[in-house]
Amino acid sequence: NKQVILKNYVSGFPKESDMEIVTSSIRLKIPEGNKDAVLVKNLYLSCDPYMRGRMTKRDTPTFVPSFELGKPMNGYGVVKVLDSTHPNYKKGDLAWGFTGWEEYSLITSPQLLIKIEHTDLPLSYYTGILGMPGVTAYAGFYEVCSPKKGEFVYVSAASGAVGQIVGQFAKLMGCYVVGSAGSKEKVDLLKNKFGFDDAFNYKEEPDLDAALKRYFPEGIDIYFENVGGKMLDAVLLNMRIRGRIAVCGMISQYNLENPEGVHNLASIIAKRIRMEGFLAGDFYHLYPKFLEMVIPYIKQGKIVYVEDVAEGLESGPTSLIGLFTGRNVGKQLVVVARE
Ligand code: NDP
Repeated sequence: NKQVILKNYVSGFPKESDMEIVTSSIRLKIPEGNKDAVLVKNLYLSCDPYMRGRMTKRDTPTFVPSFELGKPMNGYGVVKVLDSTHPNYKKGDLAWGFTGWEEYSLITSPQLLIKIEHTDLPLSYYTGILGMPGVTAYAGFYEVCSPKKGEFVYVSAASGAVGQIVGQFAKLMGCYVVGSAGSKEKVDLLKNKFGFDDAFNYKEEPDLDAALKRYFPEGIDIYFENVGGKMLDAVLLNMRIRGRIAVCGMISQYNLENPEGVHNLASIIAKRIRMEGFLAGDFYHLYPKFLEMVIPYIKQGKIVYVEDVAEGLESGPTSLIGLFTGRNVGKQLVVVARE
């Protein structure tokens, strides 16, 4: 059973050598008498920015615990059931949820899995638009941003797993949407594939405040925050009265020993801005409603989804750290097996 393990806890930027591919000779099977386990083959693994936090040893508990050194890493993935003693699962079922970064996993908490009922869309989408990033975009945009038709919406890290969906939701709602991303290729995708009204490469903008004033001469009603740091500071200067900022993530800060300060927070007062953090995990009760909306959109081609597909478990470490250099174009996932 090939596995990706964390070799040492990370400070600063993660490196490929912080992880290691090992082969375990232990043959996984459901322990005798266990009535609540599934043995799975891992098909697709999801690379997600929050995993960076789990690579550091933290003394204070956060919403997910640190990885255990020397053990296979874990995260979201798409799995096929090989054996089950859990009443909800039988051999051959497909599911997505928490699994190991390895070829086969024994899952003793199958409540962390969701059975896949719609198999007529690419299965890999359950690491992205039909999985956690989809729920994030849906909850963050519709529940946290309180969007209205015609509003001015700005999305950072806009071509990524979450951002590309948020921008398309905002367009479907009749908003004016601008996205930023870190390369020409990504900016082209935003404009030509995802239908953003406009887009820019933030790396080519020495003055982010001036750039936002150019793209939003009347100001921003909704900021979907994925990045933090200097971008947030510039956005705060360009928000409209009663604007909303949905704080989904702050990826520019995850590898910093000393996170940057935010200087323009006081503009929240005079402009009566609502700034709200949220976690996808609090919104899974909306998952059926979300699928009901998004699946027809995908089938009708009204929402498209771009994935960055890495082949083989061995590509896991490079793919994961690539999120922090912007190497991924679209949702980063790793194919362990296709069936
Ligand atoms: P992406 O697919 O967008 O990949 C990460 C992207 O972030 C990179 O491709 C890169 O794009 C950009 N990036 C990396 N470093 C920086 C930096 N220093 N400054 C600016 N941009 C940077 O990831 P996701 O869509 O999965 O996640 C997007 C955000 O949403 C993250 O902050 C993540 O933590 C958060 N998130 C939050 C959830 C929640 O429940 N609250 C759930 C899921 C995600 P580029 O080339 O454009 O720079």
